[in-house]
Amino acid sequence: MEKIISLCKRRGFVFQGSEIYGGLAGTWDYGHLGLALKNNIKSLWWKMFVTDREDMYGVDAAILMQGKVWEVSGHTSTFADPLVECEKCKRRFRADHLENSEKCPECGGKLGEPRMFNMMFQTKVGAQDAVTSYLRPETAQGVFTNFKNTVDSFHPKLPFGIAQIGKAFRNEISPRDFIFRVRELEQMEVEYFVKPDEWQAEFEKWRENVREWVKLLGLKNVHEVEIKEEDRAHYSARTVDFEYDYPFGQNELLGLACRTDFDLKNHMKGSGVELEYFDEETKEKFVPFVIEPSFGVERALLAVLVESYTEDELGGEPRVFLKLPKHLAPIRAAIFPLLKNKPELVAKAREVFMMLKKDFPNVVFDDNGNIGKRYRRQDEIGTPFCITIDFDTLGEKPELLGTVTLRDRDSGEQKRVNIEELKEALK
Ligand code: ATP
Repeated sequence: MEKIISLCKRRGFVFQGSEIYGGLAGTWDYGHLGLALKNNIKSLWWKMFVTDREDMYGVDAAILMQGKVWEVSGHTSTFADPLVECEKCKRRFRADHLENSEKCPECGGKLGEPRMFNMMFQTKVGAQDAVTSYLRPETAQGVFTNFKNTVDSFHPKLPFGIAQIGKAFRNEISPRDFIFRVRELEQMEVEYFVKPDEWQAEFEKWRENVREWVKLLGLKNVHEVEIKEEDRAHYSARTVDFEYDYPFGQNELLGLACRTDFDLKNHMKGSGVELEYFDEETKEKFVPFVIEPSFGVERALLAVLVESYTEDELGGEPRVFLKLPKHLAPIRAAIFPLLKNKPELVAKAREVFMMLKKDFPNVVFDDNGNIGKRYRRQDEIGTPFCITIDFDTLGEKPELLGTVTLRDRDSGEQKRVNIEELKEALK
């Protein structure tokens, strides 16, 4: 894990939040490459769950919502974790994460009695007569409050879903394990509305969809864990957690839950607004059930990094590289002139770079250091292809005119390819 964290910092993926002031626990900033990887994960998700389907609608709701939303959803009263404090060193822990509930894991001191700690960040909205609100702890409520708007605007037939990607905030008692447990997170959630008597079958379909997603991320060690009734969230009739083997142990990557009609029914009561669905075919009115696959962006990103982090030996030298699937890699290909002081090589390399950039916006030009170093730098950030323009490209060996070397990240193998064939080879 330390190696991944250090690579992330060194190569501009993830930095500690507010680092120059000593950091703010549970917050992380994303550098150029981490942002690119994160955006690739989010775009892939949106493509798979929204644009490639006909039954999905997007929404982008405000992070700040009326305080009443959180009362009605049950978060004000129940969105809490058990907190214990060490009587000696005063450190605080989540009681359900401790192996020994009596002794402090840091100093061995006696732990006090657990008390429930609400994880929502409270804030005040307005300058005068300020009202209490919260930074949303899940994106889902912004979907439920837009259920009627979506139905009125698009008249979808059941089953249909509303998807959202956005920030959520949880004042975790002990944020830890790099970006695994953070206080400011990003969720990708679908609320999928179904006829109440069809929820079990729809749940199984979503389980399959989630398996497909996990495959697209290239993750191998994922376990499906049926959550016992006593451990489920207050709204859930069934939850299956998808857990990944992180270096610090098997832990939740994402969750799939049936939220029943809990949220819509409560919002109907709380707001007085009709949130029933009218079925044109059967002429029935009812509150749909909801299947919710809930994906954390950070946990997906961390799993992808863990899965792809590889150490091997190439050409007799140890190397570290990220074996990222090419559709996720921040950079698809790096284009090099063999020598940076030969204008004819540089000009040709820039020509190839500009040509490829039209189809692959995430290609880069690099003429820094020798070729070996450039390869290693690209390997370390997971770039699947390197393209080198040399004197043969310009026709030194006439039979190689217009060809370049294309190097494969994983095997280190190089082959000669015609410039016209590059677009196909990079796909
Ligand atoms: P945990 O048990 O690990 O605290 P949870 O069961 O509270 O997680 P959910 O409420 O099901 O999590 O949230 C849905 C998803 O949001 C999680 O599967 C995870 O991917 C992500 N998530 C939740 N809390 C955090 C957090 N503090 N940091 C990063 N991601 C999170």
